[in-house]
Amino acid sequence: MKSNTYKIVLHTVALAGLLLTSSLQTNAAKGSEQIPEIKEALEKKQGVLDQINKLDNSLKEQTDKIIIAEKKMKDLQVEVDQTEVELREAEDRQRVSQEKYNKLMSKYYTFGKYGYISQLLSAKDMKEFFQNIDFIRLIAIKDADTLKEHRNATKAVKEKVDQIKLLQDNQLKEIEITNKAIDEIKAKKGNDKKALADIEKLVNQYQDEIIILNKALFRKGQLSFPFKSTMKKPLNVVMISGYRIPRRPNHLGFDYPAPYNTPYYSVADGVVVESRSASGYYWLVTIYHGEYKGKSIFSRYAHSHPRQIAVRPGQEVKQGDIVGRVNTLGDSSGHHLHFELRSGTFSNQSPMDPGIFLPRY
Ligand SMILES: [Zn+2]
Repeated sequence: MKSNTYKIVLHTVALAGLLLTSSLQTNAAKGSEQIPEIKEALEKKQGVLDQINKLDNSLKEQTDKIIIAEKKMKDLQVEVDQTEVELREAEDRQRVSQEKYNKLMSKYYTFGKYGYISQLLSAKDMKEFFQNIDFIRLIAIKDADTLKEHRNATKAVKEKVDQIKLLQDNQLKEIEITNKAIDEIKAKKGNDKKALADIEKLVNQYQDEIIILNKALFRKGQLSFPFKSTMKKPLNVVMISGYRIPRRPNHLGFDYPAPYNTPYYSVADGVVVESRSASGYYWLVTIYHGEYKGKSIFSRYAHSHPRQIAVRPGQEVKQGDIVGRVNTLGDSSGHHLHFELRSGTFSNQSPMDPGIFLPRY
């Protein structure tokens, strides 16, 4: 949502920038003394926008860092859980061998009917006595070794758990540092946004003046700038009717079908010069795109309701800016955009095949 806002803001800057170039070309016109101020405001705005953009980038970097760190933490936790199961198993094994060893030892040192000492002493002869001693010693050594082995295993697993926990602590510290950095970036961004809002107010004031200026230039026939020579389809659909096709020799444009209220866009940079009712068209929006081979180029958009129109006369538009939304008002048999290109002068425009600049599909 935030990045969208920036896009719109950037758009506004671009609009005003275009206006600036066109206005600068006719600085004989009234109001042009404001242009350095406008330029300065726009530059300032661009600077703040760049700054916010940079902050957004570092914000994304830091957020990615956190995501990675949290993933690592999760993996480490899985390892800890597994290792703790291992530890419990090792401890169980150790306990069992410890108990076995303890029993053996207590038997070994107990005099009595079942004690080893009495068993030893009850040997019939010396041979049996020594056999018994060897046997007992062997059992004792074996049990002691097993116990030692189990103790070492438990110790190793414990060390492993400690190591993983240390890694977890490091990750936690990193997350903490990153979170702090994020807070700082957010604070900076907040300040920049405040500054941006102030500049925006100023620029918006100028936008109104720009519209007034453009309208005055247009009235005097002084609105003039070179056409950039590239156009983009006003709607990204396949057209249903072309320019002066055999079936409709009087059809002076391209028809792009689309559902009700689908937005359509300016085919090139320019200045809106007309938004008015016109028979057949119902409502007609005309955009001036500049001078091309000694003639003024205009694009026209028809069949919408005035409430669906997103631009007003005098307004600067960039290629791809929304002009209006599809409807079927006037001389129309279905929802579509009727689009025309015209060339000539403001007062005398003749139809032009849009296929010169746009694909015929
Ligand atoms: Zn048409």
